[in-house]
Amino acid sequence: MRPVQVRNGKEFGLRTSLPLPSCGCERNIIEQALEKFMFMSMAAPIVRLAGLCVALVVVPWFSARAAENTQDKCVRLIYLVSKDREERSDFRQAIEGAIQELQKWYGEQLKGATFRLHNPIVEVVHSSQPANWFYTHPNGSNRDDWGFNNTLAEAGRLLGARYNDPHFIWVLYSDGPGNKGRGGSGVTCLPEDDLLGLIGKHPTQKHPARWVYGLGHELGHAFGLPHPADIVRDKDALMWAGFYMEHPEKAYLTESDKAILLHSPFFFNAAGGNRSSKNQDPTPINSESLRE
Ligand SMILES: [Zn+2]
Repeated sequence: MRPVQVRNGKEFGLRTSLPLPSCGCERNIIEQALEKFMFMSMAAPIVRLAGLCVALVVVPWFSARAAENTQDKCVRLIYLVSKDREERSDFRQAIEGAIQELQKWYGEQLKGATFRLHNPIVEVVHSSQPANWFYTHPNGSNRDDWGFNNTLAEAGRLLGARYNDPHFIWVLYSDGPGNKGRGGSGVTCLPEDDLLGLIGKHPTQKHPARWVYGLGHELGHAFGLPHPADIVRDKDALMWAGFYMEHPEKAYLTESDKAILLHSPFFFNAAGGNRSSKNQDPTPINSESLRE
């Protein structure tokens, strides 16, 4: 036996001297194996680097696209629990049931086109504010808008909720006592009155459907719908007094409402198609257009 200097060992800066059999065939096999080993030694850091790139760049990119596909351009419902209140599962379940009924109702009105819901449908978020803060803390020149302004400010701080968000329509329920539900510019804020109404515990209006379709009305404002131009002809429209009827599910969207919604980036047909540009933002509406 004689020591053999492995050819590629030097090339890779590795000096290897092994006693090898004299048979050239076996030597070739071993040399090839060593060359492969040397190559792998060099390649391993590259493979690891490539793996790291996949982990850091490619996987998050695909995950973000997947999340965007399922969660973008949808309605997010937030149940804000005040710091001096307990979370109530009946409130959360009632909100979920209400929006599912409205999703179906809008779809029937628009021959299949409707809005998407976030997953989870209702997000429970704990506020650092006491319940009374929401509708009594001064915030704006119009006292009737304080509840809306405070609720949006708190959800903005906690979740990034904002006017005319291109990704989400925000529906913000708080358990703060009040009776000034408002909607407009991509946001709807609703007080404890509406939560009690949804579970049939409102002090004077006991029919939960009134509060389901009351949400439908404020949500309509968030989508950009105004009150009807002809309130005599359309007195029973959802966007006027239709949600006060004995059977509010018989309220309707006017042709004008339908035209607006069918061009909203938040409405999709059953196949997932959308008549608006996917990149179109909701029509900006200033805060003065907030409506009851
Ligand atoms: Zn209104």
